[in-house]
Amino acid sequence: MRPCTSPLFDSQLFDDSLLCSGTLDRYESEAREALLRVTDQLAAVESPTTGPYPEDLRGLVDAIDLDSPLGSNAESFDELKKIYLRDAVYFHHPKYAAHLNCPVAIPAVAAEAFVTSLNTSMDTFDQSAGATLIERRLTAWTAQLIGFPQLAADGIFTSGGTQSNLQAMLIARNAAVSKTSGPLPQRLQNLRIYTSQDAHFSISNAAMMLGLGHEAAVGIETDGHHRMDAGKLREQIAHDLNRGLVPMAISATAGTTDFGAIDPLGPIAALANEVGAWFHVDAAYGGGLLLSSSHRERLSGIELADSVTVDFHKSFFQPIGSSALILHEADSFESIAHYAEYLNPKSQAQQTPNQVDKSLQTTRRFDALKLWVTLRTLGAVRLGTMFDRVIELAESLEAEVSLRPQLELAAPVQLSTLVFSFKAPGNHLDCSEMNELTNQIRQRLYRTGEAMIAATTVDGRRMLKLTLLNPNTTMEDLTEILDAICRVGNDLLLERLEGARA
Ligand SMILES: *Cc1c(COP(=O)(O)O)cnc(C)c1O
Repeated sequence: MRPCTSPLFDSQLFDDSLLCSGTLDRYESEAREALLRVTDQLAAVESPTTGPYPEDLRGLVDAIDLDSPLGSNAESFDELKKIYLRDAVYFHHPKYAAHLNCPVAIPAVAAEAFVTSLNTSMDTFDQSAGATLIERRLTAWTAQLIGFPQLAADGIFTSGGTQSNLQAMLIARNAAVSKTSGPLPQRLQNLRIYTSQDAHFSISNAAMMLGLGHEAAVGIETDGHHRMDAGKLREQIAHDLNRGLVPMAISATAGTTDFGAIDPLGPIAALANEVGAWFHVDAAYGGGLLLSSSHRERLSGIELADSVTVDFHKSFFQPIGSSALILHEADSFESIAHYAEYLNPKSQAQQTPNQVDKSLQTTRRFDALKLWVTLRTLGAVRLGTMFDRVIELAESLEAEVSLRPQLELAAPVQLSTLVFSFKAPGNHLDCSEMNELTNQIRQRLYRTGEAMIAATTVDGRRMLKLTLLNPNTTMEDLTEILDAICRVGNDLLLERLEGARA
């Protein structure tokens, strides 16, 4: 093996802290040390959180002098334990049921070593070689799962659903703008994006970033299941067309963040087709159904989309970040392609697969490798079974919620979330006091570390929310969370009464 040499330093390592064939001993020992610290920490985790407040940690982090290095990984890891590892939030813990975070597939975590050690960049083939072909196989595989025509479809990995949605809306905007002429600002001001009131905020943010303004994203009312009301959508579009507005895109959600609701994809697709709007499906969360053996049909109609967002770092058990935007027609990427002579010259576009042509990022991680290794080691069927298990747990827990008189579901379970309120009959609390009580229940569970749950607001009422993405969680774990919610809620009510009496 040839060490990294520099003529200036006469065959000595120029800097033995950089990874190269001459520093592999150091790399191995430090990586091993890091791995040991991780496994020690994970073995010691007893609760999803220690419940820190920002002020508990800020002093520790601020006290560190970044200009005085410790000199060894062992020491910096010791320090890390105090400022981060000890009080980190552990998504794999069975009492973690807060946000859309999943426990991660071990093959994917192991694959991360390749991603960062080789540090491949996905922008051009000449920086990535096989990695580009691997990513392209995975986007083609996802397109096939969606039911897109194999030869026409294409896709790109992104950092997350927010970025995938932004890129989808950018491509949709370009498609709409290409049908008109005149100065750009005027062509933009009449464009409208339709999405449900329960859609992820990234769609409305995309409207803002694309120069359309937040108000260009129109939130359509939902039905009792929090699915977009296709009739209301039709009325709104008809009304807007009469006012001279242009339906640029309809973004349906397949798995809303709060209720896991899947908008009626077939009827929305037909309407989009009728009015010439781009049809996007935000399946950031519900994308896992693509691999489900029992519930795949819930996504029926997704194959009619012009573009689909899938977050592998949610329902495919991948480490962050791992997401993709998949397009029905590869040609649609052309409106965002930029060719730079020093990177991806247009003259070579035909013969060289340069992913940067389709990406909003330039230098980009080889995140696709994590999913690839997961599929090659565990397989897609296994991933689908894990997501099915999570759905099954949510459905069983729904029955458990209905058994508890103090808990009331806001809507039927549709994917793997439960939104419900804690009731305090006979206590005559008004809406704002109930909202405060709800926040306090969640806060107390967090502070004690007993469980981590989420909260959301539905029609002005604060509600508790459980998001299940851990197939290893048991019904026992989950019913313990419900019991803890009721216990803490009643404790808080009692304290409130005592406070009033005192
Ligand atoms: C999580 C989520 C997003 C955002 O994805 P990120 O990966 O967090 O950027 C968008 N849409 C839906 C429906 C989501 O659940």
